[in-house]
Amino acid sequence: MSKLLKLRCSSLPLGMICPGSVREPEQKVRIEIDGGSMGSAAHELLAGLPESGKAYWDNVPEVADKWFKVNPGGHETPEAFAEELRLLCALGTKLWGVVRDSFPNATTEHYFETEFRGLGFALTGHIDLISAGPTTRFGDWKCGRVDTSPEHQIRGYGVLILRNILTTEVTGTALWVRDKTIENYTMSPDDIDQFAIQIAERIVEWDGTYYPGDHCGLCPRRHECTALNVHNKALVSTFVTEADRLVDDGLDRLLTAMTPERKYKLYRQAKLAANLSDAVIKAIRSDVIAHGPIVHGGKRLTVVQEARKNVDPVAAQAILAEHGFTPEMIGRVLHVGRTDMHREARAIAPYRGGAAAIRDLESALQDAGAVTETYIQKLKESRA
Ligand code: SF4
Repeated sequence: MSKLLKLRCSSLPLGMICPGSVREPEQKVRIEIDGGSMGSAAHELLAGLPESGKAYWDNVPEVADKWFKVNPGGHETPEAFAEELRLLCALGTKLWGVVRDSFPNATTEHYFETEFRGLGFALTGHIDLISAGPTTRFGDWKCGRVDTSPEHQIRGYGVLILRNILTTEVTGTALWVRDKTIENYTMSPDDIDQFAIQIAERIVEWDGTYYPGDHCGLCPRRHECTALNVHNKALVSTFVTEADRLVDDGLDRLLTAMTPERKYKLYRQAKLAANLSDAVIKAIRSDVIAHGPIVHGGKRLTVVQEARKNVDPVAAQAILAEHGFTPEMIGRVLHVGRTDMHREARAIAPYRGGAAAIRDLESALQDAGAVTETYIQKLKESRA
């Protein structure tokens, strides 16, 4: 009997784009996808919503600490990680308030598997919340920054439910926490075969062709994928020659005449080149730290230490006043870091009262007009 290809529902969106991504890597490496640990941490806390109507706010520091160690996801401290986590919990709570009536008596964390022996695969998945009945509703929290279509994943969960729970119809909802939006997919038992055949034709009967692209950043095989290397080399080498010419010829003016496709490709190429440059520069810095300066052609590459002077705000306040600083001037030079402020508020709060203390403090500052917002403009990539 031939071995079944085991497919996790969460691997289906990428597997449908590039079936190579769901094959076992030759060398197993633990790869953390950016945003993955934040998503996992938020899942743990949002599980409280269907159960008690509240996220597990009190567990934020402990959960943040645990997942920060797995992958800090660009945060410098567990406290900064915790702050983003609190924001996700707040957003998830708001979203739950809008959708909860659609999930009566929901229960959390269900694991299912099912086999399609004739088609050569087995499907597995963990479903965040299920509201079972004659027609069943289930939800999947989407907390990470990763933004691909969840359709195949949600349909996969739909198949698992239809095969494991007695129900005539199932509607799966992707709960997009950051955007506070939802995406629904409905299936009946009649849809199972068609979906399973689609998986078998695209993924199980794979002809060995790889499909590299932006999605490779999510792939557990990206550390060993030759197709991705070839793809990146081609992108970067054409970019370097082209970008040089475009900048010389006036990129601002040329962009106005470019198609969206061309502009987007240029953006992706620039990002890839920037990421590769960052990785190379980081590696060289580590090499210099470990093995000493690099000397070549009359140049010397060393790592230097630059001193940063920090002013103690407690000691500084009185001295600044003595030197003629008004309270407004002192306010302009002594900044309040919100992450640090939250940490201190939590430290002096009563047991399990940290989240409430932070909310009270924020609301008092807001009422006093002490909070202002500034805006920056940055490029953001999302699904169209
Ligand atoms: S890295 Fe990209 S091309 Fe390679 S297997 Fe993964 S998704 Fe496919």
